[in-house]
Amino acid sequence: MRRPNNAFAVERKSARPLKSYDGMIMIKTSYTTKHCCVDDNISLTLRLPEVMSLLDDTVTSLCHILALDLPNIRNIPVIFRELGNSEVVKDGAITVVPREDSRCGLRDWFELLFRHETTHWLIRRAWGQSCVMFWEGLPVYLADNVVRQRVFQFSYHDYCAALLGHQALLALSTGLLPHQYYGMSHDFRMTAEYGSFTGFLVERYGMSSIQKAYQMYIPPTPQHPILELSPLFQGIWGKDLQTLEVEWQTFLTDSAYVSGDAEALVAKRHYSKQVALKDRHCRFCYAPYGGGDICPVCHASQNIEITIT
Ligand SMILES: [Zn+2]
Ligand SMILES: [Zn+2]
Repeated sequence: MRRPNNAFAVERKSARPLKSYDGMIMIKTSYTTKHCCVDDNISLTLRLPEVMSLLDDTVTSLCHILALDLPNIRNIPVIFRELGNSEVVKDGAITVVPREDSRCGLRDWFELLFRHETTHWLIRRAWGQSCVMFWEGLPVYLADNVVRQRVFQFSYHDYCAALLGHQALLALSTGLLPHQYYGMSHDFRMTAEYGSFTGFLVERYGMSSIQKAYQMYIPPTPQHPILELSPLFQGIWGKDLQTLEVEWQTFLTDSAYVSGDAEALVAKRHYSKQVALKDRHCRFCYAPYGGGDICPVCHASQNIEITIT
């Protein structure tokens, strides 16, 4: 898989996972913090002594931003593992597979991954699910983007502004269905664009508008395979996606999101007009699956075409 050879590569697959060859004996321990119950299979406290306060500080920060009732947020199940992917399974624990690379160290990587998955975990319980644009866009904006700005000094807005300047943005309608969005995750643009677009909506229209995009969302089902985006966008913002997309691009230009690093990065890459679908995820429940006609998690047929209205 071609990886971008540049400083924008805070991409999960680009960093190596922690390995036991680091010389650390990994012992399984369990501990509780103010907000979390942790199954630590990799002795992470030895490598990252501040991990317990990092967990609680992250939960506190996210609850503040999302206006969630912090005292009620207790016993979040968290698992640290050596192998696999960081993820949060519906109604399950947050799994973090810590990583590090030469430019983004263990602490920053850990914060990015835990903050991203915790955003999913908290929001699913407080607001429910949303279309994949906001389901991934909000964690990317609140987690990946925060750590990125700290480590690399440029944001997803900066990156998208540079893409816009090179006519390399993908249309926001490109990844509206989960199997499209996750299928093209090897190309970083869709992730960055949904993160930046969601952030733009938060900054211009308030977090409450994104909250509604979760609470008012009616997911497509095999019986009713229709993604009703127009009613959702009109009901919340009084505008369709295409109009908001133009507003977002104007915001990127007018806000002078100009970063020399982002510009240099975008300038030296080639961006294809179309992105092939690779990773497979269920078009209904978003779960990764190995291929085949039926999702092993929700058992929905993957041959059902979803219509977007
Ligand atoms: Zn995610
Ligand atoms: Zn499924």
